[in-house]
Amino acid sequence: MRCCALAVCLVLVIVQDGWSLPLRSISVTFPGDILKNVTDTDLAETYLKRFGYLDKMHRSGFQSMVSTAKALKMMQRQMGLKETGKLDKSTLEAMKQPRCGVPDVANYQTFEGDLKWDHNDVTYRTLNYSPDMESSLIDDAFARAFKVWSDVTPLTFTRLYEGTADIMISFGKADHGDPYPFDGRNGLLAHAYPPGEGVQGDAHFDDDEHWTLGNGPAVKTLYGNADGAMCHFPFTFEGKSYTSCTTDGRTDNLPWCATTADYSRDGKYGFCPSELLYTVGGNADGAKCVFPFVFLEKEYDSCTKEGRSDGYRWCATTANFDQDQKYGFCPSRDTAVFGGNSEGEPCHFPFVFLGKEYDSCTSEGREDGKLWCSTTDNYDEDAKWGFCDDEGYSLFLVAAHEFGHALGLDHSNIREALMYPMYTYVEDFSLHKDDIEGIQYLYGRGTGPDPTPPQPTSTTTTPNPTEEPEPTTPQPVDPTRDACKLTKFDTITMIENELHFFENGNYWKMPSRGDGGLKGPFSLSERWPALPAVIDSAFEDLLTKNMYFFSGNRFWVYTKEGVLGPRSIEKLGLPTSIQKVEGALQRGKGKVLLFTEESFWKFDLKSQKMDKGYPKSTDYVFGGVPNDAHDVFQYKGHMYFCRDSFYWRMNSRRQVDRVGYVKYDLLKCSDSY
Ligand SMILES: [Zn+2]
Ligand SMILES: [Zn+2]
Repeated sequence: MRCCALAVCLVLVIVQDGWSLPLRSISVTFPGDILKNVTDTDLAETYLKRFGYLDKMHRSGFQSMVSTAKALKMMQRQMGLKETGKLDKSTLEAMKQPRCGVPDVANYQTFEGDLKWDHNDVTYRTLNYSPDMESSLIDDAFARAFKVWSDVTPLTFTRLYEGTADIMISFGKADHGDPYPFDGRNGLLAHAYPPGEGVQGDAHFDDDEHWTLGNGPAVKTLYGNADGAMCHFPFTFEGKSYTSCTTDGRTDNLPWCATTADYSRDGKYGFCPSELLYTVGGNADGAKCVFPFVFLEKEYDSCTKEGRSDGYRWCATTANFDQDQKYGFCPSRDTAVFGGNSEGEPCHFPFVFLGKEYDSCTSEGREDGKLWCSTTDNYDEDAKWGFCDDEGYSLFLVAAHEFGHALGLDHSNIREALMYPMYTYVEDFSLHKDDIEGIQYLYGRGTGPDPTPPQPTSTTTTPNPTEEPEPTTPQPVDPTRDACKLTKFDTITMIENELHFFENGNYWKMPSRGDGGLKGPFSLSERWPALPAVIDSAFEDLLTKNMYFFSGNRFWVYTKEGVLGPRSIEKLGLPTSIQKVEGALQRGKGKVLLFTEESFWKFDLKSQKMDKGYPKSTDYVFGGVPNDAHDVFQYKGHMYFCRDSFYWRMNSRRQVDRVGYVKYDLLKCSDSY
C-alpha cells in the first residue's frame, strides 16, 4: 500500500512541475475518438459514384472507355481543377470538402423532376426545426433564401403552415425517409429535388451538421431585457470574459449572456436557448423539460437520446413520460459538443482534466490540437467529452443553394456561383451572373428593381424592347488578326448561308455565293453577347432560324426574341458525361446529328428530344474520317470533318471524296502564308 501511494504522489509531482514535463504535452486516448480509416481510392470511388461521375459512364452507351481516369477528369472539370485524370492532392482535398448531396452529373432515375414549376406562386412549408438555432432565426434564414430567387424572377414564395406545399422543408439525420441518407457531420450538408409532385421540390437538411449563420454560434436571447437581441461574445461580467453563455451569477442554472460587450456597464442581457426554457417539436407545444423525469421506469436528470435511433436529444415535459407521454426535443446549447462520446451535450465549465480545472475548451491532451471540453464536471472520473464548436454552416447560404435545385437549377461549374456544389462561407452574399441567367432562363425576369448595380458603359444606351440581356462590354477586335494565320478554329458552321469560322471571341464569314471573299474578324460578344469566347459547336435550325451554340456541357439558343440559356446539354437528352459537343450536321429540316468524342446522337428539333437508338459510333457510320474531329459541319451538300488544319469531305453516300487544308480550300487563303 505504501509503495502505491508513493507512486501516485510521484505522478502528481510530475504533472504539476512544468520542468519535469517532456516538451510534448501529455497525449491522452479519448474514448470514442474514432479515426476514420478510409483509403484514398475508396474515398474517390465512393465520391465519383455518389455524385454521378462513375455511374453515368456506365450508362452513356459505350462501355469501351469507362475508366476511373475519365470520371476523375469529368469531376476535375466540374470543380475547376486541373484535368489530370489522376487522384492528385487537390482532387482528394476537393473530395473531402463539405458539399451539396445532389449529384453533379444528374442521374435521371434518382432525381427526376420537371424542368420548372408551372406556376409562379410557389408555396413552401417548414415541417420541423433544427435544435441548433432558435426557430425564428431558421424561419428568417429560409425567408431570406427564397428572397434571393424572388428578387430576380417573377416568382413569389408563400409560406404554408399546414397541408401540402410545393417545397416541403425538413431537417433529418442519416436515414430520413428517402433513398439518400445523410452521412453524419460534414460531408453532405443537404439536398433538394427538382420541381414536381410528391417529394419533388422538397429540400432536406442534414441535422448532424451544426447549423449557424456561418460564423460561429448565432445565439438569440429570450426574455431578459434585450428584446431578443443576439448574444455579444465575448462579454465581460464581474471582470471575467465569456465566449459562450454562462450560468455564473445565477442559482437556477439558466444559461444567459450579455447582448453588449460589457454587462456591468450596460446591464443588457437575455437567456440562451436551453431545455430549461423550452423544447422543440414533439407533442408538448414547446413546454420546458421537467427534471428528473421517468422513462421506461428509469430516472433522467438531463436530456437523453435513449429510446430513439435518430440521435436527437429529448426530454419529458412532465415528471413521468411512461404515464403522460409528453415530450419535446432539447434545443442545442451554444456550447453543445460534436463527436467524442457525448454528441450534443453542452460543455461543463469548469471541468477537471488530469487534476487541473478548465474554464473553457482546451486542446490539452490532444496531439491534433483540436479544442474539446468535458460534458461533466470531471473528465478524470466520467471520461465524457466532445469537440467544441466550430463556425458551423450558414443555413441561409445552404438553403439558398438547395432552393435553387427546388426551382429547377443544376450545379454550376463556376466556383463563385451559388449553384457550385461545394460550400464556402461568404459574408456579403450576392447571386452570380451564372445563377441569375440560369433562373431567368426558367422563369424570366422579375418586375422589381435589378439587384445588381448597373455597370457603367461607355456606349449610349438605347431602350431594349426584347428580353435580351444587357450586352456585356464587347471585346475589342484586333483588325489585324488574320484567319489565314490560324491553324485551328474552335468551330466552323453555316449560319445564314455564310460559312462562319469561330476562334476565341472572334469570327470570320465566308459568303457561299458570289466571291466577296472572307470578311472579319468580328466580335463574338457584340453579336451574341450571352456566349462565352470559346464555342465548341453551333448550328442553325433551318426551319425556325434559331441558332444553337455549345460550349462545354452547356448550350444557348438565339431566337428572334432573345437568348435562352445557358442550359445543361442534359436538357437536350445528352448524358452529362459528355464534356463537349464537337459538331453538328443537319439531317433534313427537323433533325440534327450531334457529335461528341466517338459517338453521335440524333436530335429532333420539333420535339426537342433525342431519337431512340442513339448514340451510335461515329467510326461505324462515318468510316474514313478522323474519330477525333473537332468540327463537323454541312457545307454545299457535303459533310466536313476537321482535325487541326485539315478537313475530310464526305459525300451523301458517306464516301470521303477529298482531304484538304481548311486554309486554302475553305478560307481561300493565298499561298504567301
Ligand atoms: Zn446542390
Ligand atoms: Zn432527403
